[in-house]
Amino acid sequence: MKLDLEEQMGGAAAQSHILVFAFPVQGHINPMVQFAKRLVSKGQRVTVVTTFSASKSIPTPNPTSLGSNLKMEFISDGSKQVAGSESIEESIERFRISATKSLINLITKIRNSSDALQCPLKFVVYHSGMPWVLDVARRQGIDGAPFFTTSLAVATIFHHVHEGTLKLPLEGPRAMMPTMPPLELNDLPSFLSDVESYPAFLKLATNQYSNLKKPNCIFFSSFDKLEKEVLKWMESQDWPVKMIGPTLPSVFLDERLEDDKDYGLSLFKPNVETSMKWLDSKKPGSVVYASFGSLADLSIEQTEELAFGLKNSCFDFLWVVRESEQDKLPKNFEQEISGKGLVVSWCQQLQVLAHEAVGCFLTHCGWNSTLEALSLGVPMVVIPHWADQPTNAKFVEDVWKVGVRVNVNKKSGLATKEEIAVCIKEVMDKEKGMKFRMASLNWKKLANEAVEEGGSSDKNIEEFVEKVSLI
Ligand code: UDP
Repeated sequence: MKLDLEEQMGGAAAQSHILVFAFPVQGHINPMVQFAKRLVSKGQRVTVVTTFSASKSIPTPNPTSLGSNLKMEFISDGSKQVAGSESIEESIERFRISATKSLINLITKIRNSSDALQCPLKFVVYHSGMPWVLDVARRQGIDGAPFFTTSLAVATIFHHVHEGTLKLPLEGPRAMMPTMPPLELNDLPSFLSDVESYPAFLKLATNQYSNLKKPNCIFFSSFDKLEKEVLKWMESQDWPVKMIGPTLPSVFLDERLEDDKDYGLSLFKPNVETSMKWLDSKKPGSVVYASFGSLADLSIEQTEELAFGLKNSCFDFLWVVRESEQDKLPKNFEQEISGKGLVVSWCQQLQVLAHEAVGCFLTHCGWNSTLEALSLGVPMVVIPHWADQPTNAKFVEDVWKVGVRVNVNKKSGLATKEEIAVCIKEVMDKEKGMKFRMASLNWKKLANEAVEEGGSSDKNIEEFVEKVSLI
């Protein structure tokens, strides 16, 4: 049954107003906006909040595609007042102080609005990296819950570090944790495998666990069957986990939300026509789609290895190289590959992954990209870069068995062109790649089941909405 975003469900809970507060980065905005749309489809009013730093790059969000019960607010994070440079620690603290003030102002504004009585503001869902929002909200008489944009497995690893049940540096060759595969150092999130690399991000990541005993639920953009064992274990530790994903626009999953065709808030301008026309001219399953997400800052050497790995694999390829990265491409590369390969600065990734011409996804294993490939049944070749990506890569290869991870040369630290080409050939091969395609299609089916009416994620969202209505 298709639902207009604003059409209330029969017998649904009374309308409440819920804030969804995302960090101003693409990989956090996308899943949180999708969660917001699902809440609206269950009859709630939602304001998605992020900070002005994102509004600089977001072209005015299209209100019709968002629906009038889904609003967008940009608040100050103090970045406009910053003169000169700041350390990462300073910017995290400045963000917390300024965003706290802005959030309180927004709450007051909503409470003073003319329809605040019919549709009271009751809840704030905030990115897990801002645990302080819970206290801010509760001091205003509103409840709140964190939203993780990583897998539950990654959150579980940090939980063990926080509880002292995983000691760093590792005491043996592998980290052993209940229900998790043995993890070698390079399978751990990079902030843990190399604690010196980004101390400020490590602090931010571990801070997420500082008050996790307080909220009554903890949201994850993942789904029950994908992380069944880890979920069971975390529940046994009294974590009130609610898997509400995968958080893709409905048209790519259950098709129940009318007009939910894309994420709606892109920080980059996609070359839609160029990419889609090019893909239309290719045979089914013949193209490698390569992208390293919205943040990756690869070295010139790694970009070169990628370029020749793609070229030498002998398959056609569509490669997203963001504008800021394009001067790292080898000289004349685009002319050399003309016809065989296309480089674009951004694309509509979901449309690309869903295109029948795409046979595999060469990815950095950002959590959204990983979930998108799993949900659309596309096998992967993975080159994790940092943060949670190494752990996602481990699961792609050894747990979900939907692809292969490119070995990194121990001396140079690079994923070499030879290794990249070998892995692409393995996954794209009609016979050798069959097992990856079959496993991917199975995950696609399970992802759909989770968000369909009565599916595990659908039920979790419905239960949450009912709880909020009782507040
Ligand atoms: N994305 C996109 N077009 C592109 C590249 C990426 O729309 O050309 C989207 C992708 O679908 C995903 C997000 O950007 O939703 C990237 O998030 P992810 O967690 O994969 O990586 P991050 O950017 O956080 O490293």
